[in-house]
Amino acid sequence: MISFSTTNISGEVRISSTLDRMCPPLLRGRCAGIGAAAAGLVWVRARWRFGEIVKALERSMERKSSRKTPTVEPDRSKRCHTCGRSIAGFESVHYGSEKTGYRDLCNACFNAEVAEAGGIEFSHMQFEPLEVLDFAGAVHRFYFETRILGDKLSLEAFELVDGNPGGYEFQVLGDVEDDLFVLMGQMVPRIRRLVSQQHLTREPHMPGLHIADCLVRGRITSDLDEDVRMPMLVIDGREISWEEFGRMVMTFEGFQFRMEIKDRSEEV
Ligand SMILES: [Zn+2]
Repeated sequence: MISFSTTNISGEVRISSTLDRMCPPLLRGRCAGIGAAAAGLVWVRARWRFGEIVKALERSMERKSSRKTPTVEPDRSKRCHTCGRSIAGFESVHYGSEKTGYRDLCNACFNAEVAEAGGIEFSHMQFEPLEVLDFAGAVHRFYFETRILGDKLSLEAFELVDGNPGGYEFQVLGDVEDDLFVLMGQMVPRIRRLVSQQHLTREPHMPGLHIADCLVRGRITSDLDEDVRMPMLVIDGREISWEEFGRMVMTFEGFQFRMEIKDRSEEV
């Protein structure tokens, strides 16, 4: 078992730059054009206001840092056929064949069975969930699962939305006999890089979300609410319908674009 901790460096930088911008005009404006005594009084007042501003920003930061989405426990009504552990769908594999029959195995028992059958040296490891702060200071809790896929080893990281994998999702692939810690060492920076980037933003006096810059990274899933097969995008860890994304793109009417699709194990 291991766990990782993270810090929100970008949040601190943002706060500092806000103060840098606010305070010099505040002090200069209060002190200009008045006598020395009055200037002293205003200096005290400015110091007091400065303190209030810092406290307000700290309170705002605390609220942002502690923002969490309500947790819905996964459905673990199934049990692993081998070890008897209660398992959710994302923690298990429906494994077997028509000839031998199918069994639900937890990922640890599945990996052990596959490794033994293939003569592979493999030691399963269950990583503890990891909490990462995004660009806005919101907490994202990532769960990790490892599976042997033929001669590859897949490490997946995902959030849980209503008890099922959703939101941000990542995959790192390695050779089946690779050290799992090496894959984890690739995974964590990849998670932190993507969640620290904001692609969608809100604009004052304009409804809905908008593309923050000219580059959008995301994941393609399917929209189960639509009768016809339509994509549902996941951008900044949130679901964006194809229709909503189309409305955002209309801001760029007349522009050109390049769309590049990558495997889920690649970094975008
Ligand atoms: Zn098991």
